[in-house]
Amino acid sequence: MNKAGVKPVISVANLTTSFIVEGQLRPVVRNISFDVAPRETVAIVGESGSGKSVTALSIMRLISASSGRVEGSIRLGDRDLLTLPEHEMRKIRGNDIAMIFQEPMTSLNPVLTIGYQIAEALMLHRGMSHSEAKAETIRLLEKVRIPAAKSRFDEYPHRFSGGMRQRVMIAMALACKPKLLIADEPTTALDVTIQAQILDLIKILQDEEGMSVLFITHDMGVVAEIADRTVVMYKGEAVESGNTDDIFARPKHPYTRALLSAVP
Ligand code: ADP
Ligand code: MG
Repeated sequence: MNKAGVKPVISVANLTTSFIVEGQLRPVVRNISFDVAPRETVAIVGESGSGKSVTALSIMRLISASSGRVEGSIRLGDRDLLTLPEHEMRKIRGNDIAMIFQEPMTSLNPVLTIGYQIAEALMLHRGMSHSEAKAETIRLLEKVRIPAAKSRFDEYPHRFSGGMRQRVMIAMALACKPKLLIADEPTTALDVTIQAQILDLIKILQDEEGMSVLFITHDMGVVAEIADRTVVMYKGEAVESGNTDDIFARPKHPYTRALLSAVP
């Protein structure tokens, strides 16, 4: 339970992630703790290299044992993701937590149509038949406001603009009806007007789907737009966390003040 007496969707405690560098374990995320409540958006903000993506990858358990070590606990319901067998974790990635990235092209297969890729996820994770999956794919593409969704089912990713590709990735993420969406700088590679549209879309979908969002960004302007609560990361540590409004009104850490001074 958190302070408000609500059971969080995910609860990260004392997360420390180290990589093996020249034969030595070097921590790049140190002792991070935060939770995300149902329907809440929590931002992780910090400069490049501060450990934001490593935190997200640790939650998804995508840090391989050969490259590093993840310590602490990551509780989803009554399970600790760090101790789950890999086949259980694969189900979590397909059903409970979805992730979108900065460059949507890297997550889409260039030689398969948009429709095929989403429909495949629906057949795999939600056990739909081919025709059910096709209908649901079109519904999802409409949900993320892709114009003329039905006619774009058979198109390949290169035919979509950056913003449209990110919409496709969001549709793909929604395909698994996640409790938590982890968005790792999803608007960083996009033009400012498109950025605003994607942020709006995430907010609308969060309301409609009732999901929680962990939103990673280096941009305090984006934090102000989207986050209920914020964790400020600096050199692998959480130097400040709390309600976004409080952080903007009364930043405690010098690094937070520096980040805020860059907001126009
Ligand atoms: P960001 O906040 O920009 O997302 P990252 O989480 O990607 O930062 O990286 C945090 C630190 O961890 C950086 O210093 C980065 O070089 C290092 N790092 C990330 N992945 C690896 C890896 N696989 N092996 C070694 N170091 C890594
Ligand atoms: Mg990153």
